[in-house]
Amino acid sequence: MSDYSRLLSPLDLGHVTLPNRVVMGSMHTGLEDRAEDFPKLAAYLAERARGGAGLIITGGFAPNLRGTLYPGASKLTARRELPRHRLVTDAVHDAGGRIALQLLHAGRYAYTPWCAAPSAIKSPISRFRPRALTDRGVRRQIRAFARAAGLAREAGYDGVEVMGSEGYLVNEFLAPRTNHRTDDWGGSPENRRRFAVEVVRAVRAAAGPDFVLVYRISVLDLVEDGQTWDEVTALAREVEDAGASILNLGIGWHEARIPTIVTSVPRAAFTEYAARLREHVSLPVVATNRINTPEVAEEVLASGADLVSLARPFLADPDFVRKAAEGRSDEINTCIACNQACLDHTFSKQRASCMVNPRAGHETELVIGTAPVRRRVAVVGGGPAGMAAAVTLAERGHDVRLLEGRDHLGGQFDIAMRIPGKEEFAETIRYFTRRLEVLGVDVRLSTWADAASLAAEGVEEVVVATGVEPRVPDIPGIDHPSVMTYAELVRGEREPGRRVAVIGAGGIGVDVCELLTTGRSPTLDVDAWRHEWGVGDPDATRGGVVPAVPEPSPREVVLLQRKATPIGKGLGKTTGWVHRASLRAKGVEQVTGVAEYERIDDDGLHVRLGEAGAQRRTVACDTVVVCAGQESLRTVADELADGGMTVHVVGGADVAAELDAKRAIRQGTEVAARI
Ligand code: NAP
Ligand code: SF4
Repeated sequence: MSDYSRLLSPLDLGHVTLPNRVVMGSMHTGLEDRAEDFPKLAAYLAERARGGAGLIITGGFAPNLRGTLYPGASKLTARRELPRHRLVTDAVHDAGGRIALQLLHAGRYAYTPWCAAPSAIKSPISRFRPRALTDRGVRRQIRAFARAAGLAREAGYDGVEVMGSEGYLVNEFLAPRTNHRTDDWGGSPENRRRFAVEVVRAVRAAAGPDFVLVYRISVLDLVEDGQTWDEVTALAREVEDAGASILNLGIGWHEARIPTIVTSVPRAAFTEYAARLREHVSLPVVATNRINTPEVAEEVLASGADLVSLARPFLADPDFVRKAAEGRSDEINTCIACNQACLDHTFSKQRASCMVNPRAGHETELVIGTAPVRRRVAVVGGGPAGMAAAVTLAERGHDVRLLEGRDHLGGQFDIAMRIPGKEEFAETIRYFTRRLEVLGVDVRLSTWADAASLAAEGVEEVVVATGVEPRVPDIPGIDHPSVMTYAELVRGEREPGRRVAVIGAGGIGVDVCELLTTGRSPTLDVDAWRHEWGVGDPDATRGGVVPAVPEPSPREVVLLQRKATPIGKGLGKTTGWVHRASLRAKGVEQVTGVAEYERIDDDGLHVRLGEAGAQRRTVACDTVVVCAGQESLRTVADELADGGMTVHVVGGADVAAELDAKRAIRQGTEVAARI
């Protein structure tokens, strides 16, 4: 059993003792925006409190209308809003937890025509140019923070977090990039800090001494003209003097072009700043970003942080802390930092959930419970959809067998985890494999399903999750020895040459380029990763931005698609830009608007380009990798249905187009929850 003695040790803050060192970091779920969703928000947060989170921080609430992220977004501005917050604070307290409300003023990131900032400088991520606040306007924002903190206290919160990072209003005052003022609120570093310090002072005065006041401090802006390390440490000291009780690290502005939380960012890549900051203050400091297992958390605490903040990992598994405490960390459903159901949802105004835990944010709607009748059920296919279905069926008390044709579980995740930067996907296979074992599911590898033998066992219902196979397009020469499917390449069954053409630029085509152009995965080596993306030290350069020095690609790669739209358009909102930047950095040639793949021969891949296909080109290459989507594999489903079984088809076997692990896991879980 691992030793999590640091993680599980209490922290005395004077008026309150946190039972452990784990903060559930702020995540906007979308449930914060509408009063009628607060019962769901309360259920979601209470489940995390029961699971042992030491201190929960809510999603961001604006302290006034001007600070809202978009029209209708969450805010705490009036006493009439308090009853809905009471639902949340009572539910968390009844579950034994503690909760702080995050106060977030969006500043120039607001997607509203009424947004305001220190200076009238438009951000690259909102189409609205902010108005520069007048001196009176600045003071009004400070009063709004104080009033909102007082309301939070009345609503029963144990504290507030002042959002001072990620490029929102408070952070905008701090950096010369966004603060061009020449009055008391800008110019010198002292003046730029004044707003943050006055906000903390006013919040402390309004909320009283026995109230947790977390200040989220941007230690590494990762934008040009961000703060220097001296400015950050001076701010930390002033914020401490002004009344903060905890400093929570923030990394990178939203407009930064360096990834900070996606799956290809090494684990704990930014946690060193906690120990560095601690040398300058006596407050507890919280380390953050890409801490997703108790082992990593324990190491981060050993390296000098007082607390760790985990946000997405609590979506993936509400019982993270409880399982660690019970010596069951191998049963934790690990956040794989894919962003597919959390941040990608948030940025497209859908409710945040979790790809590997579809119950997240849907606790009152997707209820697993115990099945009224225990049945003998078979699941055919051990990919994400099948594993999720089998686990949920077993949790409901059914007698479950899982049949998989290959000699291992994992399906498409077994491919994904072999892509450099996607190593985390192995954790999901580990989680489901362990859960199947704990729940006593009869897992049969290298086994093909047939109706007669299942019927002989008394199986009445079958969930078919047989997945997909790579589509092989009808191109003359497709059987040329240079051609391979992405599955053959990624599984290492075939060796690519030095010049490669990739047909199809969906998620898998882009992943394949990542594999072809990368030697050792920089995700496994934090120094290499910093070089790759240009992450420096704020002690040496403002904001910690230095020129990126990516490792050159070992291959020449040409990526092709028929669509004329830019490559990677269909990728996730929060991850697509990272992949596109990677392709550029590795010199992958991108060819769009292929009218026809004419043929493949010893010279390479011959294509016609342009609208009428008038332009001919031969892509000279020694390997062609086909990433042209997938076809459903569902013959088993038809055979079992013909054999008289009740069949439920889920995942890629159901719909191969837009093959999507998020849908597959959700569908597998939902179907199982109804049987
Ligand atoms: P996909 O996104 O559907 O892309 C298939 C690609 O093949 C498209 O670029 C399509 O573009 C091309 N294509 C389709 N039929 C073709 C044909 N007959 N001949 C030649 N080209 C053809 O599928 P995928 O890349 O296999 O990815 C599957 C799913 O996995 C995605 O939908 C995504 O949800 C998920 N995924 C996502 C990521 C990520 O976000 N990073 C990574 C991996 C997988 P044209 O028709 O324009 O040529
Ligand atoms: Fe983590 Fe992906 Fe779940 Fe988001 S969707 S919480 S990134 S596993």
